[in-house]
Amino acid sequence: MGVTTADVIVAGAGHNALIAAAYLAKAGHEVLLLDARPNAGGAAATEELTLPSFHFDSCSTGHTLIQPNPVLRDDELGLKSVYGLEYVSPDPIAHVVFPDGESFTHWLDLDRTLEEISRFSQRDAETYRRGLDEFAEIRPQVGAYRFNPIGYAPPLDVALADRPRWLRRIASSAYDVIRREYESRYLQSYLLWQAFQTAQPVDSPGSGLLAYSIVAGRQAQSWTLPLGGSGELPRALLDCLADLGATIVCGRRVVELVVEDGRCTGVVTEDGERWLARKAVLSSIHVKSLVDMAPREAWGDDF
Ligand SMILES: Cc1cc2nc3c(=O)[nH]c(=O)nc-3n(C[C@H](O)[C@H](O)[C@H](O)COP(=O)(O)OP(=O)(O)OC[C@H]3O[C@@H](n4cnc5c(N)ncnc54)[C@H](O)[C@@H]3O)c2cc1C
Repeated sequence: MGVTTADVIVAGAGHNALIAAAYLAKAGHEVLLLDARPNAGGAAATEELTLPSFHFDSCSTGHTLIQPNPVLRDDELGLKSVYGLEYVSPDPIAHVVFPDGESFTHWLDLDRTLEEISRFSQRDAETYRRGLDEFAEIRPQVGAYRFNPIGYAPPLDVALADRPRWLRRIASSAYDVIRREYESRYLQSYLLWQAFQTAQPVDSPGSGLLAYSIVAGRQAQSWTLPLGGSGELPRALLDCLADLGATIVCGRRVVELVVEDGRCTGVVTEDGERWLARKAVLSSIHVKSLVDMAPREAWGDDF
């Protein structure tokens, strides 16, 4: 079987790997990406799932959490200015209809949202505004915790040790927080739906922050949707990578990591081909799959 060599081999070409690969290629490294599926982009995919010309996001849709990343915030790779990636923040954010025919509209304009909430409860409108203000006070600590690897920023119980009210809220479930804070059943239902957006069980202890964090993000920037669908992000990245001279090989499943003298020096695909790296191997394959691709002892005792 053949051997292919590049400076950097990237195993798995989801959007995170594409971003890392583009930075490496921009820094002058020869990059080669491998993906098991016929197309790169992973769970950022827009596909014709039903009829021709009807495009669906088959997994992710809202590109919200990635917005503070310099790749988008500062357009470091030119994805927006050169490669045509464009985001919109839909207003209204959401319009929901309840079984009894009542409805609720969530607007990007805060005053308009407060007016809408006060149709149900003036007290809930005040609670909503207060919740946003209070969450803004802890946003730096939450941001540091969320955007750093474990061990590189204090955990929330340490960062918020001087704010017992927040510790209590975070330890509660989102369900308990919302039921306690809001009196209107309509508001409770709507906010619980928002809190559930990351598919974390909202009745689990420890999910209390979701009652604040998700809706604060929505109120600030709606859903942040790429025009044309989720697949527009990998499309722009692939165009960028092509200009940077990177190679993307799809339809090749990585089954083994090549480990020499304690270092990963390449990968093997299921057809037996070896892909060797002169400088580094990078992977965004889920760690549960990756761990079986090298002998257990290669991971070290504390892995
Ligand atoms: C249904 C659903 C809805 C979601 N909605 C949202 C949302 O609205 N907003 C949001 O922010 N997030 C959402 N997410 C989460 C988000 O999609 C993921 O966090 C994100 O796509 C992860 O990107 P990634 O590049 O790290 O990995 P992935 O997108 O998982 O990419 C991994 C890549 O590795 C490849 N691969 C895997 N194993 C191998 C192998 N052995 N050999 C070669 N290649 C391999 C895969 O084919 C894939 O292309 C959603 C996820 C799902 C499943």
